[in-house]
Amino acid sequence: MIFRPEIPRVYFLRFREVNVVYKINTKKCLKCGLCVTQCPENAIIVDDKETQFDGLVLYTTRIDAEKCTGCGVCVSFEWWCPAKAIIKG
Ligand code: SF4
Ligand code: SF4
Repeated sequence: MIFRPEIPRVYFLRFREVNVVYKINTKKCLKCGLCVTQCPENAIIVDDKETQFDGLVLYTTRIDAEKCTGCGVCVSFEWWCPAKAIIKG
């Protein structure tokens, strides 16, 4: 299990940029699904969940631009996205 400390919501607001939303670079995304449960706005959505023959579960994810507040939390910590696939849209 990966350790992820609880972060007070007020912390997110400090990093919020105006008129910025983020998106996932599907070419870099590993489909690990780590980002999905961590977004404070639930803006990272699973479009497809696929189980490979060896038990590996892959998640096709995207960021809902309507929900993304641009808080930047998903790019603030290395452990959120191991592939650094989340970029400014
Ligand atoms: S910028 Fe914030 S709201 Fe948008 S996807 Fe990342 S964590 Fe979620
Ligand atoms: S954490 Fe990064 S690599 Fe993993 S599913 Fe999310 S965007 Fe893709």
